[in-house]
Amino acid sequence: MEDCLFCKIAAGQVPSDKVYEDDTVYAFRDINPQAPVHVLLIPKQHIASSAADITAENSGVVAHIFEVAAELAKQMGLKDGFRIVTNSGSIGCQSVLHLHFHLLSGRQLQDQMG
Ligand code: 5GP
Ligand code: ZN
Repeated sequence: MEDCLFCKIAAGQVPSDKVYEDDTVYAFRDINPQAPVHVLLIPKQHIASSAADITAENSGVVAHIFEVAAELAKQMGLKDGFRIVTNSGSIGCQSVLHLHFHLLSGRQLQDQMG
């Protein structure tokens, strides 16, 4: 999608600190990390602007993103756990309108999520 930051990152038009890439998924370190490990996992294609747009037609990529996240967690040695978050809309404080999942770890995360 034109003028979408994460489309440009997935296409290599905007530089990023890549940690994983395959045909459909791209993962890179967040520019403003909220934890020692803060990776963003995105579909390469702009299949949805947020989790509110996930449907039976595009959820296969979402499932694959979770498989990649589990594999990355193993590779990164996150044996004590991690958190996966997706923000949607203004109430969710979403700032980039390209579906993405935050993978957070490396320190004890807060008990409260809201
Ligand atoms: P959201 O607030 O939409 O859930 O998450 C967007 C995330 O993208 C934020 O955590 C923000 O730090 C990150 N971000 C914004 N611009 C860039 C960028 O240019 N590069 C990288 N690596 N992360 C970005
Ligand atoms: Zn996009």
